[in-house]
Amino acid sequence: MNLRIPGPTPCPPEVLSALGTQMVDHRGPEFAAVLERVSSGLKRAFRTENDVLVMTCAGTGGLETAVVNTLSPGERVLSVSIGEFGKRFAAIAETYGAAVTRLEFEHGQAAAATRVDEALANDPSLTTVLLTHNETSTGVTNPLRELAGVVRRHGKLLLVDAVSSMGSMPCEVDAWGLDVVVSGSQKGWMVPPGLAFVSFSPRAWQAYERSQMPRFYLDAGKARESAAKGQTPWTPAVSLFYGMDVALEMLEREGWESVFLRHQRCADVARQGVRSLGLELFADPRFASNTVTTVRAPQGVSVSDLRKALRERHGIVLAGGQGPMTGKVFRIGHLGLVSEAEVQAVIAALAVELPRLGFVAPVGVSRSPA
Ligand code: PLP
Repeated sequence: MNLRIPGPTPCPPEVLSALGTQMVDHRGPEFAAVLERVSSGLKRAFRTENDVLVMTCAGTGGLETAVVNTLSPGERVLSVSIGEFGKRFAAIAETYGAAVTRLEFEHGQAAAATRVDEALANDPSLTTVLLTHNETSTGVTNPLRELAGVVRRHGKLLLVDAVSSMGSMPCEVDAWGLDVVVSGSQKGWMVPPGLAFVSFSPRAWQAYERSQMPRFYLDAGKARESAAKGQTPWTPAVSLFYGMDVALEMLEREGWESVFLRHQRCADVARQGVRSLGLELFADPRFASNTVTTVRAPQGVSVSDLRKALRERHGIVLAGGQGPMTGKVFRIGHLGLVSEAEVQAVIAALAVELPRLGFVAPVGVSRSPA
């Protein structure tokens, strides 16, 4: 199967075999050594001296960790949203009683720094900003460095969803001044779902001291205290730590710059290939994501029929649209374990299936993929 969804990504054989390693005492020295290697590898990947906590939960649990450890009920928060995951981050904060002001941008667009600046200037009672680095539902990467600069100038706390970007494209926690940053194992890390990685800056720890949100399982202070003893507060997903240990070693061997370039090349193949078929890209090209390419539904073709044909006749699995974009787009995931050849195979299969399903490319478009 060529699994081309934006996570879970396929896992390398080395990771799969590490997952089958026998259990150890999660309060003993073997696990402490794995935790230490994984945490320090993550700090290098996040480009930070901050603590990076490894939580046993989905990426959404990582977002919840960011919220419950820094905010208090009634606290005023600005949610900058460019799609479904931005909305989810806001919903979590609201669920725990934060007073959320929403600044939403049209699907397919990135957030405009000037609008964020205005929103923060207009309401000095806002304490915190929620931002998505890479919006997986639309295939848009926000200009995080620029946006973070605005948030920093206003002196607000910045919580970042980097679930589908960290480890696949540049994301510099310390240099860009990001306070809490979240990622998830099933994305660029090439590990099965189940671990969330959450970095906390010194400012975020100060917010933790003030924060009045209810929390237990996701208490970052407990995680930090346990980590200092080489443990986690609760029984961790030990096997996933084994997988992460191996995956980080593989990614570092490849080199982070090479990993980022590989993602960029795969994204280029996806974007050029899609256009060569006469299809339309959904995202503003200036902000098109290097981990997921969103394509408008081909004229006259149902997205579910297209996905079914690719799955059944080519062994290729693509993602559909989420929320309001269901049926309007399909998405090609190219993150984690991915090569240009695998993305090229998607384009070649689309070139076969689109005409079979009745799609007629606009005049002037050659039918052969680039
Ligand atoms: N945020 C983004 C940008 C994501 O892409 C995802 C997962 O697709 C999540 C959050 C949520 O992660 P999970 O599905 O692991 O809870």
